Amino acid sequence: MNQPPAWPSPLPTFKLFDPAQIEPAVRRALDQNRAELAALLARDPRSWDELVVPIERMHHRLARIWSPVSHLNSVLNGPELRAAYQACLPLLTTYHTELAQNDELCAAYGRLLESEGPALAASQRKLLENALRDFRLAGVALPEDRKRRFREAMERLALAQAKFDENVLDATQAFTQTVDDRNRLAGLPATTVERARKAAEAAGTAGWKLVLDAPTYQAVLAHAEDESLRREFYTAWVTRASDSGPHAGRWDNAALIDEILALRHELAVLVGFANYAEYSLATKMARDPAAVLDFLRHLAAVSRPAAQRELAALEAFAGRPLAAWDVAFYAERLKRERLEVAEEALRPYFPLPRALEGLFAVVARLYGLEVVERSDVEVYHPDVRFFAVQDRAGRPRAGFFLDLYARAGKRGGAWMDECVGRMRLGADSALPVAYLVCNFSPPQGSRPSLLTHHEVVTLFHEFGHGLHHMLTRVDYPSVAGINGVPWDAVELPSQFMENFAWRAEVLPLISAHVETGAPLPAELLARLQATRTFHAGMQTARQLEFSLFDFRLHAEYQPGQPSRVAAVLAEVRDEVAVVRAPEFNRFPQSFQHVFSGGYAAGYYSYKWAEVLSADAFSAFEANGVFDAPTARRFEHPILEQGGGRDAMEAFVEFRGRPPEIEPLLRQMGLAA
Ligand SMILES: [Zn+2]
Repeated sequence: MNQPPAWPSPLPTFKLFDPAQIEPAVRRALDQNRAELAALLARDPRSWDELVVPIERMHHRLARIWSPVSHLNSVLNGPELRAAYQACLPLLTTYHTELAQNDELCAAYGRLLESEGPALAASQRKLLENALRDFRLAGVALPEDRKRRFREAMERLALAQAKFDENVLDATQAFTQTVDDRNRLAGLPATTVERARKAAEAAGTAGWKLVLDAPTYQAVLAHAEDESLRREFYTAWVTRASDSGPHAGRWDNAALIDEILALRHELAVLVGFANYAEYSLATKMARDPAAVLDFLRHLAAVSRPAAQRELAALEAFAGRPLAAWDVAFYAERLKRERLEVAEEALRPYFPLPRALEGLFAVVARLYGLEVVERSDVEVYHPDVRFFAVQDRAGRPRAGFFLDLYARAGKRGGAWMDECVGRMRLGADSALPVAYLVCNFSPPQGSRPSLLTHHEVVTLFHEFGHGLHHMLTRVDYPSVAGINGVPWDAVELPSQFMENFAWRAEVLPLISAHVETGAPLPAELLARLQATRTFHAGMQTARQLEFSLFDFRLHAEYQPGQPSRVAAVLAEVRDEVAVVRAPEFNRFPQSFQHVFSGGYAAGYYSYKWAEVLSADAFSAFEANGVFDAPTARRFEHPILEQGGGRDAMEAFVEFRGRPPEIEPLLRQMGLAA
């Protein structure tokens, strides 16, 4: 076979990567951008090509420098790289704040939209509208004194959120439980017990030392037969950073929560919103607070009766009323008994090479694209592979680095990130390239990595994000791929792809027993599919409790009033929860998604995107899982146009109507 022509588009050169050069390179790039921006604005640019194209070029150039730094910091972490990465973060924050508060630039964008708006392409208009919205959200139009106050409040908020995180981390690490009696560990998975033994050894003590990280906590709650051990772990977990539990008062986040809520409210009001919930929705697909609350309450009304039935059945199975620390344990037993399927036992059916081959076959059937490995592209670690995504004529449309195995220095979890964004600006162009990262166990000798079905679903999920990035046809980096896609719509393509990994049509493509080559037998498949809806009511009730608490807290905030955190939580629990939380539960004090992460007045996004993805997939259920015309109708507005158009309009173009909730209820087994 002929050697394919060299990869036709820019890629990072990892072999030239030197941590000592990072900070100087970032400083040079920022200085260059600042100088170019000043010179540009001095020329009073009036047209798209004079104004937006040079700024998009600057964004692309900076992203090309920063993307490999941030990626390698996540997957090949070491002290030098980490120091360089952390030294650059404040430089970038300052730069982005300057840009967002640059009123000259804002005015120039405003003039351009006004003068050329109707003549521009949809993605161009969307870019300008997003930019003007973000200028407003950054307080660009405020008088100088209030602009200063906005910046101060932002900085104070960043510090308060960082302190919130530190308190949770310190409180989490402060708790350990050393067990001398092996019997107390009965039921725990061997890997958890082994980790605990090693931790005790490292601490120079006998027995088993259990820590409070998420995997250990979940393993104890789901598997420990000793009820007192489950209760101790539950208590430690739900009282972290609070005035209750084993370290009561030591790292209490209560005052920080009130300060964070007050600052968010002040920021929102400064830039013209009634509250932070409205501020949050300004960048989201959901149109207003009522739409979010109606959505959550509708879902609550449907799922709560199911959740109550599930809990009653679980208590009948256990033979007694269940406390909060009993539910996961008995649910696990019930699931094993009723469904007779264990995640671990299915691994031999999912060798990684087979799962990948099947995933690529699905993409080929849906979109007519071929995924081809390229050995001529330089990678940053021997485990990493590079693939081209090609059209029918063999032309590369995009590429991705695939980094699948756990190793030291690599962050946990799975994610997709931008390596190179698609760009076509004048004579310059770049094909989109993604990083797809997982943490599967590596092959052992000649035996390939064997995945759980859950891991196969993860692979499909991340590849869905990857397709959103790689199949974009938008030319301008700010709205190409997942850039500019609202937070509550960005999980649509990823959750959509998960559906394929559950289908009888797809399972023979992704499974082949490692010894016999046989696909997953039909009766195992049926039992596996049943796990998808197991306790869907209780799981939904929990997600709704978090979502409603988060959203109401931000929407109903009243400055100068006593804290309503506990009161709102109690009201929400009365409305939706079925498992009663004990009095000592202080869950808000460690709710990092909302108080220190990016989900403030946005936790509902998880469920919102599930509605979109289930509804999108229902079109394939109706027309055939591999129906190419349906795939084409999905690909065009959603995957190709991404952030370049309004998310609701794009969905309506694909589905012919606004999103409906019924397909999700069907998928979860909650439909009437
Ligand atoms: Zn995702």
